Amino acid sequence: MSEPVVTRFAPSPTGFLHIGGARTALFNWLYARAKGGRMLLRIEDTDRERSTQAAIDAILDGLSWLGIDWDGETIYQFARAQRHREVAEALLAAGRAYRCYASPEELAEMRETARREGRSKLYDGRWRDRDPAEAPEGVKPVIRLKAPLDGETVIEDLVQGRVAWQNKDLDDLVLLRSDGTPTYMLAVVVDDHDMAVTHVIRGDDHLTNAARQKHIYDAMGWSVPAFAHIPLIHGPDGAKLSKRHGALGVDAYRAMGYLPAALRNYLVRLGWSHGDQEIFSTEEMIAAFDVARIGRSAARFDFAKLESLNGHY
Ligand code: GLU
Repeated sequence: MSEPVVTRFAPSPTGFLHIGGARTALFNWLYARAKGGRMLLRIEDTDRERSTQAAIDAILDGLSWLGIDWDGETIYQFARAQRHREVAEALLAAGRAYRCYASPEELAEMRETARREGRSKLYDGRWRDRDPAEAPEGVKPVIRLKAPLDGETVIEDLVQGRVAWQNKDLDDLVLLRSDGTPTYMLAVVVDDHDMAVTHVIRGDDHLTNAARQKHIYDAMGWSVPAFAHIPLIHGPDGAKLSKRHGALGVDAYRAMGYLPAALRNYLVRLGWSHGDQEIFSTEEMIAAFDVARIGRSAARFDFAKLESLNGHY
């Protein structure tokens, strides 16, 4: 028997529940429900400056209003910081990571050189194999992953297909900052591994992160989840959805009087095709949903369609 499907929705609580985020949550929910699996909710509150309780409340509230439920307790990423640090230390001990003492000035210089030479790799690896005895005094290092130098990193994405990166273009990413806090990249991988997530369904603005995250999975000898990176939502004019297109938050639609079933029905059809059928009951949605049918091109938000759908409920 294959392993049970586990998906997750992992919002950063820095603002309202965006309709793009709601669609991501919905796709994760439908996939888990369709496969008899579990969907988890992880609040990515690692960025202490930008995370707020009001945003957490808005996300939880928006999901409940849409009828999207999750399995088990809500997981708060910040509470797991010690575990993230332990994994960074384990990579260090295994020689798969190293302490980097480059100063902000040196890093700025490296960035400038990379820009001049048209390279996307910013960090030049100067502390990669250096003797730690050479560490400058009083400088707190960051911990960087030893990313592969040659060859390529390949993701077989369920939506995007095969995507490959040249490793010479990918940096030795920072795992722990100099103050000991874990980076988003490390925290996501450790949490997805520990939560036994099998499918990562999220916006395609995270596609390159998947390649970099794969380096961490590989270094730890962990199996890599399946990825499905869904195209972002664009406005009716084809530009990335932004404030000038109108309401962006689920709460705004709620305030305008839209029904949750209509918004959910609208969101599920945004970027996912299932013949001509427009109206789905929850059961039909779950039975028909398939990540393989998510389109590769950006979905366009169509307010008139949402309006007409709302009339059906
Ligand atoms: N917390 C990230 C975000 O809100 C998502 C991380 C992920 O899905 O891997 O953009």
